[in-house]
Amino acid sequence: MGCVPSHRILVLNRLWQPVNIVGVKRGFSLLCQDYAQVIHTSDGVFDILDFGSWVEYSSENPPGNPVDGIQTVRLSLLIPKVLLLRAYDRLPIREMKFNRQNLFERDGFKCQYCNKIFQAQELNLDHVIPRDRGGQTSWENVVTSCIRCNSRKGNRLPHEAGMRLVRRPQKPRWRPFVSSIDEDECDESWIQFMNLKS
Ligand SMILES: [Zn+2]
Repeated sequence: MGCVPSHRILVLNRLWQPVNIVGVKRGFSLLCQDYAQVIHTSDGVFDILDFGSWVEYSSENPPGNPVDGIQTVRLSLLIPKVLLLRAYDRLPIREMKFNRQNLFERDGFKCQYCNKIFQAQELNLDHVIPRDRGGQTSWENVVTSCIRCNSRKGNRLPHEAGMRLVRRPQKPRWRPFVSSIDEDECDESWIQFMNLKS
């Protein structure tokens, strides 16, 4: 394990899937507003603690090392390692940037016309409705396409070229960031929540 980012907090959604990594300030703001609870692991047992319980736990188990805690006027608090969101609709996620790489990721590096997986260099981006016919450059109108399908479709609508999209393009709900994180970047306490692919 590389250097442990003790001041970053892993955030899980209600299904205990990692959805984000936040800093201490953001983490405590989620906790104080009751958008999230702390998942505290000791001896392989998970405890789920809300802000009040976390304050209590922190006062009974003051941080051994000052860097593991924060000091407010009245309280000394431990910095949690993992937070569990209470609701889906409050995902505190960064917008997924609209760019080539993220479009490929959204589509799983699969051509959205022939449904085959390609290397990034063999892929293009295709405007489903061509730009000169009013098509927007947006998540809903741009898809991953292999070079062959892309040139076959040309400047036409899919049906005009006798082609079909394998699925309707949508804005991704969150950045599939777990796949882009190296194991070195993970705190040890996170590993059990991340299905890291080797
Ligand atoms: Zn294709």
